Amino acid sequence: MSPMAWARTAACHDRLELPWTEDGDWSLRVEVRRMRVVCASCPVLRACATYAEEEGICGGFWAGEWRTEAKVLARHRLARDAA
Ligand code: SF4
Repeated sequence: MSPMAWARTAACHDRLELPWTEDGDWSLRVEVRRMRVVCASCPVLRACATYAEEEGICGGFWAGEWRTEAKVLARHRLARDAA
């Protein structure tokens, strides 16, 4: 099975007009609100969040938030310090 098999039922599949892969700094607030609403109703939100975290993805909008290098590094530091 593909490591992204969960994505077949993603709620964002038919919302390609939204800037999922853009840089958050260039997106309109209304678009970000719409993406958050789509993610909130997504049946694979948890799988999406886990995949993005495990893969260390540093770009685009995943599981209700922008993935930035700063956020990913901060989470890794927190996890390391908690261990
Ligand atoms: S949680 Fe959001 S970004 Fe992730 S698959 Fe669902 S709709 Fe797409």
